[in-house]
Amino acid sequence: MADIIELLPDSVANQIAAGEVIQRPASIIKELLENSIDAGADHVKIIIKDAGKTLVQVIDNGIGMSETDARMAFERHATSKIKTSEDLFQIRTKGFRGEALASIVSIAQVDLKTRQPEMETGTQLKMAASQVDSQEPVSCQVGTNFAVRNLFFNVPARRKFLKSNTTEFKHIVNEFQRVAMAHPEVEMELFHNDNLVFNLTKGNIKQRLIQLFGKSMNQNLNRIETTTSIISVSGYIGKPEYARKTTGEQFFFINNRYMRHPYFHRAIIKAYEGLLPPESYPAYFLYFEADPSSIDINIHPTKTEIKFEDERAIYQIIHAAVREAIGKANIGPTLDFETQGVVDIPVLTNGTDVKQPEIPINPNFNPFETGNKNQSGGGSGGSGTYKHEKSSIPSNWQDLYAAARSEDEFYQSKLNLDATTEETTETLAGGLEYFQVKGKYIITNVKSGMLIVNQRRAHERILYEEILRSNQNAENLSQKTLYPEKINLSSADYELIKELMEDMEKAGFEFSDLTNDTIVVQGVPAFINDQPIVQVIETFLENFKQTEFSNFDSLAGKMAASMAAASALPYGRKLHTEEMRDIVDKLFSCNEPNYTPRGKKTLKIISMPEMEQLLEN
Ligand code: ADP
Ligand code: MG
Repeated sequence: MADIIELLPDSVANQIAAGEVIQRPASIIKELLENSIDAGADHVKIIIKDAGKTLVQVIDNGIGMSETDARMAFERHATSKIKTSEDLFQIRTKGFRGEALASIVSIAQVDLKTRQPEMETGTQLKMAASQVDSQEPVSCQVGTNFAVRNLFFNVPARRKFLKSNTTEFKHIVNEFQRVAMAHPEVEMELFHNDNLVFNLTKGNIKQRLIQLFGKSMNQNLNRIETTTSIISVSGYIGKPEYARKTTGEQFFFINNRYMRHPYFHRAIIKAYEGLLPPESYPAYFLYFEADPSSIDINIHPTKTEIKFEDERAIYQIIHAAVREAIGKANIGPTLDFETQGVVDIPVLTNGTDVKQPEIPINPNFNPFETGNKNQSGGGSGGSGTYKHEKSSIPSNWQDLYAAARSEDEFYQSKLNLDATTEETTETLAGGLEYFQVKGKYIITNVKSGMLIVNQRRAHERILYEEILRSNQNAENLSQKTLYPEKINLSSADYELIKELMEDMEKAGFEFSDLTNDTIVVQGVPAFINDQPIVQVIETFLENFKQTEFSNFDSLAGKMAASMAAASALPYGRKLHTEEMRDIVDKLFSCNEPNYTPRGKKTLKIISMPEMEQLLEN
């Protein structure tokens, strides 16, 4: 039989490689921006049309390229950044694989103009689908000007997979922010469809964070700074009371490169333990400096996940440093740092056994104790009760008792439960008694034994079906807010809201104004009750972004599930008999009473024989 193996033509090989490097317009932004920074630019202008689908242009004032290099740059594995394999362990540049430009030019039309400072004229190179269309001298500014047009024009299957402009632009903003945060010394402008979206001037890291995330950052950040023999960490962490229901302000950088690191993330979350309301995320912007030979940036094609030599030690360093930064700011009067002296940051060499630093914390301390009550009108998103449940006998148990009593009164008045209603419940007792356990479970008698219902999950199921039903029947669930509520969002969340707005309005939200990352809410779905609107919206967005919510086949389903989870009764919410009855009744009239929309069990019936068995000798 004849030989059948052939080498792929470069253009095909590049297209395949491009699949890994260039997923969407945002990937082009990332690669071009990083190249500009590697080229020493201190001013970069980015021009985008149609969320990058039509045009991504990056103009820098870096070192430019010679005529030959301009052509070479588009070859696969062509790089000026490393020469030998040893260099791989000393990488200080963003790029080094020499893949980006070859990938980009295999799936788009590229127009490059570049000039080196010492040259009088520059070079213009036009290419498309890995083919050179023309190369000629041109008069242009010093630096490099890349215009990438019509991404995936020759791979329609991939073009089809691009998401809406709002989503693609959101990805662009994310990439832009990551580079911008790592390089506050570089001026950066971003134009989208002729609008100036960001105009970042030179400054320090804090100034850059404020330019990107808003003025409120100023009061909400604590400085962090630690140097050890294996790594140095600097940057800022958000104060606990600033923690948000959505992610989007958590960033790690290693040697000025953005990285993801779930394990180090846990070190931070652990440091905040006991200081945050449930399901909220502290902001952090941590910059690590480490010897490039102690890290491996090679493990992921888009290079956001990075492996360190001594991750356990670094975990401890981060944990201790964050703890210290929280304590320093005197957030917790009960975090007794004074008597402890300075937190001991371990200085470790490889292989040293690491012990968890011990910092005594009052487990009952909760910075939200007072703030929350006014905010949510007494019923409370309830971190109060919930938190305290964890420790067996809180030192301030008398206060808690008082709080519980006033909460009782609150429900009493809310439900208008006068003496007669109480009586009715009494007389009905025997079949319809309800009992709440630990602010989490509802227990009642059923024919076959005892029914245990998880109150939050049950409510999630009920709301989910309610939202879907009202969507179908075009019912209006909306209820005007007392006063318009202004909510400030991150750019990414803002874009997401804009995308979901129509469906959110169907679910009962009313928005009156959307500008500059701020939304004004005029109406909310009635089922939101007395929960703080900001919290519901932030949790909803967070849910919507999470993967476990992504396996809903329709947008409406995913919306409904995310919304239901965001507005379901919190644990710790004390329920009156009437409310418990209502939940149980409604749950059993659902189509799928047994599970939440995300497949978690809502209820369990313990049959008489099971109960008997439990207590058998
Ligand atoms: P890498 O960045 O991994 O080296 P790229 O494909 O991104 O690979 O770029 C190839 C080469 O082109 C770079 O090594 C650099 O020499 C040159 N280059 C790319 N962009 C620029 C730029 N904006 N200014 C100057 N040189 C550039
Ligand atoms: Mg590069």
